[in-house]
Amino acid sequence: MKYVGAHVSASGGVDQAVIRAHELNATAFALFTKNQRQWQAPPLAPEIISKFKAACAQYGYTSAQILPHDSYLINLGHPDDEALQKSRIAFIDEMYRCQQLGLTMLNFHPGSHLRQITERQCLARIAESINIALEASQGVTAVIENTAGQGSNLGFRFEQLAEIIHQVEDKSRVGVCIDTCHTFAGGYDLRTEADCDHTFTELENVVGFTYLRGMHLNDAKSEFGSRVDRHHSLGEGNIGKTVFSYIMRDPRFDGIPLILETINSAIWAEEIAWLKAQQSGN
Ligand SMILES: [Zn+2]
Ligand SMILES: [Zn+2]
Repeated sequence: MKYVGAHVSASGGVDQAVIRAHELNATAFALFTKNQRQWQAPPLAPEIISKFKAACAQYGYTSAQILPHDSYLINLGHPDDEALQKSRIAFIDEMYRCQQLGLTMLNFHPGSHLRQITERQCLARIAESINIALEASQGVTAVIENTAGQGSNLGFRFEQLAEIIHQVEDKSRVGVCIDTCHTFAGGYDLRTEADCDHTFTELENVVGFTYLRGMHLNDAKSEFGSRVDRHHSLGEGNIGKTVFSYIMRDPRFDGIPLILETINSAIWAEEIAWLKAQQSGN
């Protein structure tokens, strides 16, 4: 079973995101549980929580189909202790919001060393941040997203994801989300079926599909290996449609949210319909 959807807006309340996903004919969705550009957010009101849960039940979304994303401000590998602490507190709050909503995953970008500490030190800080957050929460898996490697962002090499997982104590509550645009910009080709075979074999060998909790399906405006994060609509960018069709036909991607973060939300319904149609083969 494939779960396909998009990162929908939660404006007007998280329950509105569920309705927007349903309107797209989506079988999965992503959302922010708070304003992603602010540190502080008011706690989720009890009536919003029950409305969210009721909408999920009404439209048939279980927690396996929902991949919330944390705030862009959080850097779990921050070189400065005080700033790191601020990020850790905000991340625990995000985990708690997921828990309140009955959600079981939280997707986040691993972190950046800001050229002030080594890559190893930064990866260790990220893993420690995850350990602290898992200790402080229940039932929510920390889902590390691979990045394009822009600036000093870590997580663009599968080895970096594997190293973080290696240092996480509770392996049952850590996983990865692979973004196709980030993968391509990070230097793993996905343009042909042979490239897909090769890149996903490497993912299996270095990280392992047992840790795969979600995918972000984005074409890339950025060039191969450019380490630049610029998404594009499916088939409009430098990757092309092959990988998306490949993913839809490959059982290794069953049962996890497959989420569009493509740039034109006006065609999400079409993109979702196209993705679903790929399953029948052709
Ligand atoms: Zn992404
Ligand atoms: Zn991106």
